[in-house]
Amino acid sequence: MIITDVLCPFCGDLCDDIIVEVEGNKIIEVKEACETGVSKMMGHERIASPMIREDGKLRKTTYEEAIDKTAEILTNSLRPLMYGWGSTTCEADEKGIELAEELGAIIDNTTSVCHAPSILALQNVGLPSCTLGQIKNRADLIIYWGSNQAEAHPRHMSKYTSFPKGFFTQEGRKGKHVMVFDVRKTTTAEVADDFVQILPGEDYRVLSALRAILAGAVDVVPSSVGGVPKEKLVEIVNRMKNSKFGVLFFGMGLTQSKGKPYNVANAISLVRDLNAHTKFAVMPMRGHYNVTGITQVCTWLTGFAFAVDFARGRPWYNPGETSTVDVLNRGECDSALIVASDPAAHFPRKSVEHLAKIPLIQIDPYPNLTTELADVVLPAAIAGIEVEGTAYRMDGVPLRLRKLIEPTHLSDEEILSRILGKVREIRGD
Ligand code: SF4
Repeated sequence: MIITDVLCPFCGDLCDDIIVEVEGNKIIEVKEACETGVSKMMGHERIASPMIREDGKLRKTTYEEAIDKTAEILTNSLRPLMYGWGSTTCEADEKGIELAEELGAIIDNTTSVCHAPSILALQNVGLPSCTLGQIKNRADLIIYWGSNQAEAHPRHMSKYTSFPKGFFTQEGRKGKHVMVFDVRKTTTAEVADDFVQILPGEDYRVLSALRAILAGAVDVVPSSVGGVPKEKLVEIVNRMKNSKFGVLFFGMGLTQSKGKPYNVANAISLVRDLNAHTKFAVMPMRGHYNVTGITQVCTWLTGFAFAVDFARGRPWYNPGETSTVDVLNRGECDSALIVASDPAAHFPRKSVEHLAKIPLIQIDPYPNLTTELADVVLPAAIAGIEVEGTAYRMDGVPLRLRKLIEPTHLSDEEILSRILGKVREIRGD
């Protein structure tokens, strides 16, 4: 059976034009996706069955026993932490937030370690943005700042920005100018028209210089800012002002370098200032396919996008205090539930050392380094392949993930729902 218009549940681009061939409840071919998407959709090593650690070793068990054990751990915790959520459906995210509220837990998502500065910035200065469809159809100036999407989002340029022909961009690549700002010449920079190399940690100053020139204060700008000659900065501002529709995408090169939220606020302010001259938009390059979704769901339900602490019986948010790495580094939480994420592979050593000391529960389709530390492992069905659900593309457009084959495991949503039921049963709610 050939299934068309399938969404790829891997990166924040959520490509929606994938063609999948299914035979005997198995995906045998994937077309149109990038290499990463094909590998994700064709499937790789899975966690075969629920497991519980005993005498230092994981032994196979049933969902029932693993869920009972999970509920017991979480109910007996004084300070449970629930982290991950960017690679599952909004429906599972919603159930996770309900569980966190029931437990008085901290619930945090992967935004905490990537685009948290973007959230802080946009809470202060807003986000003049648009959809990827508008960019495809209108943008003639495309800027990537601190983002190597040729590797992180392989189809971004071919599907939405540099290459496609849109309604008002009939010439395709020929009619578009692509600029990359980065500290090194990335793969993306190699296919750009203009590469602007910035000295590490100087993004804020370069953005301020661009804003000063745009405001007409050319005289106050020194001959070189952040390694970029003044003449080049003037040329860039003229190009921005003279574009018909510009867009500035930014990645972790901006959010995680010196200045963090102030960099992002400055980039957003530059775009806001440019709108006095032409149409300009700004967009964070979000990584995991539904990390935008968890921030949406978390904001609807709690008022905050990440790092939400329910210990007071109501949502409390204070990044730096309630964000996962800080909680772990202080050795504060006494259990952790990790959903669709691998903190053991990506967190600082001190955080991982604390994770290794406390009861750790993992819900994930795939084994990873966190599995090696987990005391309870609950394998999940793959959203967008074995179960349907909602996910938000990086531009905030909600899309429906489809079920392509029958699942061999419970969905994240079902597992979380059963844990919640068991927790309520233990507490006599
Ligand atoms: S660019 Fe991202 S969403 Fe698109 S096919 Fe590749 S991995 Fe999947």
